[in-house]
Amino acid sequence: MVSRVIPVDPFDLVIFGGTGDLARRKILPGLFRRFVAGQMPPEAQVVGAARSEMDDAGYRDFVREAIVEFAGPLSDDGTQVDGFLERVSYVAIDAKGEAGWDALRTKMRGDLVHAFYFSVAPALFGDIAERLHLHGLAGDESRIVVEKPFGKDLDSAKALNATLAEHFHEHQIYRIDHYLGKETVQNLMAVRFGNVLFEPLWNAQYVDHIQITVAETVGVGGRGSYYDQSGAMRDMVQNHLMQLLCLIAMEPPAKFEPDAVRDEKLKVIRALEPVEPHHIVRGQYDKTVDSVGYREDVENPRSFTESFLALKLHISNWRWAGTPFYLRTGKKLRARTSEIVVVFKDAPHSIFGADAGRHRNVLAIRLQPNEGMTLDVTIKEPGPGGMRLVDVPLDMTFADALGPEAEQATEAYERLIMDVIRGNQTLFMRGDEVEAAWAWTDPIIAGWTARSDVPKPYEQGGTGPEDSLMLMHRDGRRWRELKT
Ligand code: NAP
Repeated sequence: MVSRVIPVDPFDLVIFGGTGDLARRKILPGLFRRFVAGQMPPEAQVVGAARSEMDDAGYRDFVREAIVEFAGPLSDDGTQVDGFLERVSYVAIDAKGEAGWDALRTKMRGDLVHAFYFSVAPALFGDIAERLHLHGLAGDESRIVVEKPFGKDLDSAKALNATLAEHFHEHQIYRIDHYLGKETVQNLMAVRFGNVLFEPLWNAQYVDHIQITVAETVGVGGRGSYYDQSGAMRDMVQNHLMQLLCLIAMEPPAKFEPDAVRDEKLKVIRALEPVEPHHIVRGQYDKTVDSVGYREDVENPRSFTESFLALKLHISNWRWAGTPFYLRTGKKLRARTSEIVVVFKDAPHSIFGADAGRHRNVLAIRLQPNEGMTLDVTIKEPGPGGMRLVDVPLDMTFADALGPEAEQATEAYERLIMDVIRGNQTLFMRGDEVEAAWAWTDPIIAGWTARSDVPKPYEQGGTGPEDSLMLMHRDGRRWRELKT
C-alpha cells in the first residue's frame, strides 16, 4: 500500500541548534525523508542556526553526514541528497547576542510560512523568542517549535509560557512531544473513535485496568547531569506518559481539531486524583560487576533521583471511577518497549465451568518496537479435548498489515514538523495542558523531598524494583511481561 503524501505550503524553517544532537539525529534526517517523499515544495528552505562559525558548504557537509548516518537506505540516492542540500543553508547566530539576526532576516522570504525550531537548551528559549521579535521575525506567518523539557515545575512552566506569550500567540506555539507523532498514538484515536467495537466498552464497567509502560534498556548515557536534576517523573511521566494517559482516557472530542482534542486531554489531567505515597515506587539501577550503577553514571554518590517510576493512578470522572491506571517507566530494564495495555474485565458469567480457566480480552497497543496492536480474544482450543479455552492474539503489526511504506511513514519528528508547517496543533501540547500536568506532578515531587524518599535499588536488565511488582500483586493483577 502506498502512503498518500499531502503537500505542504512553501516554507522557511530555521533550526536554532542546527548543529546539535537532536538536529543531527532526528530533525534533519526527518526533513530529508519528507523531501524524498515529495512533501517538501520546491521553494522550501531549511536554515541551520547556531554559534559555530561555518559557511553554507560546511553546514551542508554536516547535514550530509547526518543524513547518511540516520536517514536509512534513502540516503543511498546521491541525487536526492544533493537535491535536499540545495535547500539548506546556515547562519551563525548567538541566541544571546545581536550578530547574525539581520543575515537571518534577509534569508526569510515574503509571505511564506516561517517556522523556528528551538532545538537548544530551554534556558535560551526566552532569548530567541525576544530576538525574533526585536528583529521583525515574529509576525503572524511565524510559528515556533519548542522542545522538551517545558519547565521543571509549575512555576518555571508558567514563567516560560509567559515569556513566549510576550512575543507569540498560543496558536503560533508548538510544544513538541514526539510521542504524539507516533503512528500508533494517532491510531489509538482512530481505533477508539473510528470503530463501534471499542468505545462502548471503554469505561470502568468493562475495563479492569490500564497499564502504560515505557521501558528503556539504556542508562542515562551522556545526559547524566541533566537527568539527575530531572528523574523519571520530570523526564518521562509528566510529559510522554501523561500524554498517552490523556489519549487513552479522554472523552471523544466533537471533532478531530486542535482545541477540541486538547480540551478533552486537559479534562483528564484535571481529573487526576492526588497519588497516595504507597501507590508510588521509585527505583535507581544498581551497579553490577561489569556495569556502573545510576549514581556512578550521574557522578553523584548521594543522588536520590529516580531512574524508575511506577504509579497507580485514578481518574475522578464518570467514565473511569474505580478503574486503576498503572504507569511505569525506567532505564536499564530488560527490554525497550513502549506499550499501552487495556485489560478488560472477565465475562460476567462463565458457561464453560471451572476447567475452562479464566480468560480476558486484552488490547495491547505497541508504540515500539514494531508499532502495532494485538487483541487477545478467547477461543476454543483446537482438538477433541472438550471445551477448553485459549487466548489467541489478533495481531496487527502495521508493517505487516499496511506494507513497508507504513514503517517509512512512522517517524514522529518528520510528521510533527510537517504539521507545524500546515498549522495543525492537534498533536502539540497547549500551554494550559503543560501547566496542569505540572500542577499534578509538583506535589508528588514535593512529597518525596519532604519525606527524604530514597529510591529502591534495582537490578539492571530486569523489570525494576520488587515493589513495582507488588504494586500490582496487591491488587491481584500483574504487569504485562517485558519482552526482549
Ligand atoms: P545539543 O546537542 O547540546 O545541541 C545544542 C545546540 O544549541 C547546538 O547546535 C549548539 O551549537 C546550539 N547552541 C548552544 N548555545 C547557543 C547559543 N547561545 N546560541 C545559539 N545556538 C546555541 O542539544 P540537543 O541534544 O540537540 O538538544 C536540543 C534541545 O532538544 C534541548 O532542549 C533538549 O532538551 C531537547 N531534546 C533533545 C533530545 C535529543 O535526543 N537530543 C530529545 C528530546 C529533547 P553551538 O554550540 O554551535 O552554538
